[in-house]
Amino acid sequence: MTESKPAQTRTLPKAKRAFQNAIIAWFSEHAEDYPWRRTHDPYAVLVSELMLQQTQVATVLGRRYFERWLEQFPNVNTLADASEDEVLKAWEGLGYYRRARNLQKAARVVVEQFDGRFPEKLADILALPGVGRYTAGAVVSFAFDQSVAIVDANVARVLARLFDYEGAVDLPAGQQQVWAWAEELVPGDGVRVYNSGLMELGQKICTVRQPNCRECPVFAFCATRVPEQLPVKKPRTSTVFVDEHVVFSRDEDGGILLEQETGKRREGLWKLPEASDPPTGKIVLKMQYSITHYRVTLIVHEVCDAKSRSGRRFSAAALEAIAMSSPYRKALVALLANDDFALN
Ligand code: SF4
Repeated sequence: MTESKPAQTRTLPKAKRAFQNAIIAWFSEHAEDYPWRRTHDPYAVLVSELMLQQTQVATVLGRRYFERWLEQFPNVNTLADASEDEVLKAWEGLGYYRRARNLQKAARVVVEQFDGRFPEKLADILALPGVGRYTAGAVVSFAFDQSVAIVDANVARVLARLFDYEGAVDLPAGQQQVWAWAEELVPGDGVRVYNSGLMELGQKICTVRQPNCRECPVFAFCATRVPEQLPVKKPRTSTVFVDEHVVFSRDEDGGILLEQETGKRREGLWKLPEASDPPTGKIVLKMQYSITHYRVTLIVHEVCDAKSRSGRRFSAAALEAIAMSSPYRKALVALLANDDFALN
């Protein structure tokens, strides 16, 4: 039991009006001034939601991804007309590139089916590529202030604790349950503020490891006595360790051989070419990166005669302008910083 957690005195959903007011009042005082909170443009909201799906707020803010994206693609028309290279390059560093592709596909659907005017109906937004229940709800509630519930990981954690739910929130039955509670609690008015407040409560107060129940604006409604033990999650997939062998090859003009990815996750991005099997050539770099539950050791082999290989050669100066996922970018930066590989 958490010693510092005050006792529950009110029950949800019975006291939901007071609960909604508490969330709205708290958020009105404590809201962070994120750039995506200054807009009601549904396209901009969609951009921010997709960027934040699998990327930390600090990363998106730190490198101004959101602002730079809107400077380059200020509306659905500019995004729909952009080349794939431009889109992937603008997304570089955010990872999970399928989100960028889906964003462009969604923009094209809005241009083709809705004449460039972003739809306001939940069902129309839900039908856009890459848009799920949470994202569609976020767009209609943040852009149009429609009374629609949203559940992300933060909201699921808050709800599981408020209702002292001991089922796994990431299994279908648990998801159904937290969505049902979210829908029951969502107010008819002020949803933009309420939904943002509930999410921010999860980020700042009802955190994963150290919920600050004493400072929580809704402690009176909260049923759990053991917040740190909730929410329950399904067993995690264990980490799989793999080696990835790639080739670093420079010709006499300094051209670095790269090839384009074909897998779904990073299709179209440039990378160091795969090594032959078994790999040959001196190992010049080893580094590790993680992707989903894989821990990958990237092993770079220097290969001098790679003439027979397909791909394209780029000068060191041209690398900056092409789209490349972070592990290969980091490997190339490390390799080019090594005097042995510097351009003669
Ligand atoms: S911080 Fe979370 S667990 Fe603690 S009282 Fe608030 S909602 Fe309940």
